[in-house]
Amino acid sequence: MAKIIAYCGINCAECPAYLAHKNDDDELRAVTAEKWSKAYNSDIKPEYVNCDGCTMEGRHVGYCSKCGVRKCASAKGAQNCAHCPDYPCETLEAFLKMAPRVKENLEEIRANL
Ligand code: SF4
Ligand code: SF4
Repeated sequence: MAKIIAYCGINCAECPAYLAHKNDDDELRAVTAEKWSKAYNSDIKPEYVNCDGCTMEGRHVGYCSKCGVRKCASAKGAQNCAHCPDYPCETLEAFLKMAPRVKENLEEIRANL
């Protein structure tokens, strides 16, 4: 499946919240809710597992619904952070430390700009 790159570089096309919403997949919602409930020590309901994708208007879940990178890039009108003249800013660097694999997606885009 083609990548759907979030502002921060995450590939939303691999995210269960995106896939569950896109395919209206109740089984994936249930499995993911159980997994996330254990991982984040909280009670996540299956109906919560729905996301339209980072750069789309609509529903976003968990960290992504409050993400500072998302808010910044959206306000700047950047396609994603790879296209931003301030790349990589402190906010993005702080996020990428938590998600090092994601940086590869942004670097790949930058290599082809
Ligand atoms: S923005 Fe949505 S689809 Fe993309 S990674 Fe975050 S929760 Fe998943
Ligand atoms: S300033 Fe940072 S977070 Fe904002 S769009 Fe640029 S690289 Fe992304």
